[in-house]
Amino acid sequence: MNKNELELKVCPVCDAPLPFKPAKISYYNKSNKICDDCFEIEKNESKKKKV
Ligand SMILES: [Zn+2]
Repeated sequence: MNKNELELKVCPVCDAPLPFKPAKISYYNKSNKICDDCFEIEKNESKKKKV
């Protein structure tokens, strides 16, 4: 196992390079397109849109 196999992925929503690999520290557990933080925000935003 190589500990240097860190892979960063830029989240298109918050524009921040966040770890995608390894899975232990991944920010892309809920979605492989946007980070977990933005996923939660988007989820909450869509909940608010009741109009
Ligand atoms: Zn994000």
